[in-house]
Amino acid sequence: MNPISPTSIARRTWAEIDSAALRHNAAAVRAQVGAGVQIMAVVKANAYGHGVGLVVAALAGTVEMFGVANVREAVEVREHAADAPVFILGPALPEERAEIVAQRFVPAISSVGEARAYAALAGAEPLAVHLKIDTGMGRTGLWESEVIAAAREILALRGLRITGLASHLPVADEDDVFTREQLARFHATVAELRALGIAQPVVHVENSAGIIGFPAQAGDMVRAGLMLYGSAPRAEFQPRLRAVMTWKTRLTLLRTAPAGHGISYGRTFKTVHPTRVATLAVGYADGYQRHLSGRGAEVLIGGRRCPVLGRVTMDQIVADVTALPGVEVGDEVVLMGRQGAEEIPAAELAEKAGTIAWEIFTGIGRRVERVSL
Ligand SMILES: *Cc1c(COP(=O)(O)O)cnc(C)c1O
Repeated sequence: MNPISPTSIARRTWAEIDSAALRHNAAAVRAQVGAGVQIMAVVKANAYGHGVGLVVAALAGTVEMFGVANVREAVEVREHAADAPVFILGPALPEERAEIVAQRFVPAISSVGEARAYAALAGAEPLAVHLKIDTGMGRTGLWESEVIAAAREILALRGLRITGLASHLPVADEDDVFTREQLARFHATVAELRALGIAQPVVHVENSAGIIGFPAQAGDMVRAGLMLYGSAPRAEFQPRLRAVMTWKTRLTLLRTAPAGHGISYGRTFKTVHPTRVATLAVGYADGYQRHLSGRGAEVLIGGRRCPVLGRVTMDQIVADVTALPGVEVGDEVVLMGRQGAEEIPAAELAEKAGTIAWEIFTGIGRRVERVSL
């Protein structure tokens, strides 16, 4: 079985991106928070490893804004969606600000100093900015205790227009009591800032876990990342999402190892019986994490789960296919996603590797070609 066009060099490891699934998940976000709430699609880190070009093309016109980590990523988004508003989630370096102003990206403001620097660069046409308020994340934003005084100073700057008010939730997937109280505090601060003269700000605070757990407190816009890619940080929402990425590799060698033979570095696994072993064209350099070694990781071949044996190496892993008749060199192997009736979700790889789905997605390497379905 070889699905690859003989006219191109064969793919060894690749990720298929399902645009329809992306739009399905965006619709699930919309249904959750209501049609009146805007969606910022968070496409930082190469759209969580899915390929920013494919993802922006699939969602442009469906979402109201894109969110990225920095100005380089913002420029990339613009290349694929010329008119889309782009929000920059984190603080810029001083030398990045001129480009942000020139391109009219929307920065999050965490200090009066930052606001002054942007205002000085903006010139006659005021720059739209969002004030970020630190209501518990401890990473960026104005401290709550200083926000009113800071907002007064920033409102007086002629080069800026405050068009949004934002905060971020640190525990929306693990502490509902804190999150509920934090959301109430944030919305109270927003009310004070409105009274100060910030007219009709776009208010946004919720990441995926917030969207799922606290849809009524969303404000005017949500910042959806992980869930857009089909992975729910709160399990109750998982049935409403579809995986966007199917991560595939191929079987490069098929042998029978004798009983008592070591498999891979460290010889941490030794065959007990003669074992049909398949060598696969993926390793930790592709983002198949070395932490998956000896942790019960499985891959899908012929629609069946097959155990990964021994350590993950840089470019190759070995799977046990003893139970599978009819396996051949060249067969497609699914590392993450669905094959037949079986599915390996990102959360499964994350749990076995001792990390989170966000890191599984963003760790998928450059050698893995992203292809549109
Ligand atoms: C990355 C990020 C998000 C998206 O978070 P998910 O949990 O992936 O939905 C939202 N807001 C900010 C500030 C972020 O940095």
